Amino acid sequence: MAAEAYKIIDHTYDVVVVGAGGSGLRATMGAAESGLRTANITKVFPTRSHTVAAQGGIAASLGNNSPDHWTWHMYDTVKGSDWLGDQDAIEYMVREAPAAVYELEHAGVPFSRNQDGTIYQRPFGGHMQNMGEGPPVQRTAAAADRTGHAMLHALYQQSLKYDADFFIEYFAIDLIMENGACRGVIAMCLDDGSIHRFRAKAVVLATGGYGRCYFTATSAHTCTGDGGGMVLRAGLPLQDMEFVQFHPTGIYGAGVLITEGARGEGGYLTNSEGERFMERYAPSAKDLASRDVVSRSMALEIREGRGVGPNKDHIYLHLDHIDPKVLAERLPGITESGKIFAGVDLTRQPLPVVPTVHYNMGGIPCNYHGEVVTIGADGNADTVVPGLFAVGEAACVSVHGANRLGSNSLIDLVVFGRATGHRLRELFKAGEKQAELPKDSADLALGRLDHFRNAKGGSPTAAIRLDMQRAMSTHAAVFRNDQLMKEGVEALKGTYARMQDIGVTDRSLIWNSDLIETLELDNLIAQASVTMASAYNRKESRGAHAHEDFPDRDDANWMKHTAAWFDGWGGKGGGVKIDYRPVHEYTLTDDVEYIKPKKRVY
Ligand SMILES: Cc1cc2nc3c(=O)[nH]c(=O)nc-3n(C[C@H](O)[C@H](O)[C@H](O)COP(=O)(O)OP(=O)(O)OC[C@H]3O[C@@H](n4cnc5c(N)ncnc54)[C@H](O)[C@@H]3O)c2cc1C
Repeated sequence: MAAEAYKIIDHTYDVVVVGAGGSGLRATMGAAESGLRTANITKVFPTRSHTVAAQGGIAASLGNNSPDHWTWHMYDTVKGSDWLGDQDAIEYMVREAPAAVYELEHAGVPFSRNQDGTIYQRPFGGHMQNMGEGPPVQRTAAAADRTGHAMLHALYQQSLKYDADFFIEYFAIDLIMENGACRGVIAMCLDDGSIHRFRAKAVVLATGGYGRCYFTATSAHTCTGDGGGMVLRAGLPLQDMEFVQFHPTGIYGAGVLITEGARGEGGYLTNSEGERFMERYAPSAKDLASRDVVSRSMALEIREGRGVGPNKDHIYLHLDHIDPKVLAERLPGITESGKIFAGVDLTRQPLPVVPTVHYNMGGIPCNYHGEVVTIGADGNADTVVPGLFAVGEAACVSVHGANRLGSNSLIDLVVFGRATGHRLRELFKAGEKQAELPKDSADLALGRLDHFRNAKGGSPTAAIRLDMQRAMSTHAAVFRNDQLMKEGVEALKGTYARMQDIGVTDRSLIWNSDLIETLELDNLIAQASVTMASAYNRKESRGAHAHEDFPDRDDANWMKHTAAWFDGWGGKGGGVKIDYRPVHEYTLTDDVEYIKPKKRVY
């Protein structure tokens, strides 16, 4: 066995968190604070996690700048999710949100302030007053347009205060599973290639999204969904992967994000005729309709020949009417991005923008305690996988359903990071004895590592990755139809077959980025496959899944979560297997009633 060639360093912890973005740090902090021996493994330095790029802010019904109530936040989140969100989890999130924001404030996040000293809040898409009736609510707390940056620094400082051990620039390869339970994880230290086996009572996956399976995305190159890849290889399903969010305003060409806060501060979109077209599509919320709606409207304008630029393939975002002082104070970062990535002085000129892949609503299914769930042998769709937890963008709780509202991810990270900490404390005692790991505990991880490290085929990783990204961008974009997605499934099968002929040129174990990118591609392609197959399977339109052959939402047949397993295409593998989990059509408490589905109009 190849595994024998590698020397393994063993560690035992109560809890191992993989990922040091907002969600991973909050979970680490919670576990360590309660005395559990906690390790955090992260492939990038904590403050380089993608959370650092979050600009616009974090949603909570503080009511500082306009009247607000948690039930209004709940209504907007349910409506935003196109009724695919689980209402028990949504209730939990919006009720905990204000306390979570104050906790961040006390942890040191330098929020922007109102004159009276309270936290400044801005409007964001899909967030309204009066149970969706409007007008827009100011619910998004912000630290200028660097909210994620501020959060990550505060959370990292806080988790250093507690006794968590950080394994920085370690790449987690695979979970250690035994009889359906998670027993730990195998990781590689990137700078010396040493292999580390972590035995733990709980592993928390906080590995972020997998936006990089598309050609252009606002997410960092590190967003390769490694946790989702590990879960699929462990024989567990991922949920609702067909729902991929396109953010309306990525800078044309570069894909760099311009926060929705830009429209929150008064920015608006125009087509080649100079028309503020969102007034036609969303008469009430206009440019502040939810993201799926705005992205689709932009795509339609472009398709109907009203795009701007020489190729009529993008849209203009105007901020030139806003007082430059306000721009300098509230949107300094994007003013800079406009200059660098579009060569535009946005105090005078409009910015060229286009809908860009931004967020994954789908992910590792879990409940609002962070416990990973699957469909058990007895058919119970809420069967907990012992020892395995998921938080943040890697997880699907599901609070975002078919479409996430802007500023609802950052709040998801801290609320469920904290909830997971609570659950770990309830379930485990510090230093409890753990059984020996099975003999073959490292075989899966090291077998894959060794296979790719010695791969001598003719297809470089970058070429296969490009194949996959093109397939995703062509066949699973803002608008989809049966034919396109069917071809997409075939295209990915072809790309997957090329993986058998992959070639890695660097055989060393020291900062071998060729090898690490290959392991990441292996994670991406499994999730791309599941995404395409789940999208092809869902014969309706809901949230971010806009199916041209089935333009309406079909609650009678499709009000259910997709659960999808992947076993490799062709050969021994059976491809993607699909089943369903019911949507939780109930709330957590009697304080609020289940919000019944209705047509989604903004
Ligand atoms: C440009 C941009 C702007 C955004 N703005 C906002 C906003 O204003 N408001 C909002 O609510 N949401 C926003 N979002 C969404 C939100 O920021 C993300 O969904 C969220 O930050 C994800 O956090 P996370 O903790 O799940 O993971 P991430 O922050 O992505 O961190 C993932 C962590 O996992 C680690 N990791 C991954 N794989 C491995 C592995 N194999 N081994 C070891 N470690 C691993 C990484 O090192 C990293 O520490 C934005 C997203 C983007 C891309």
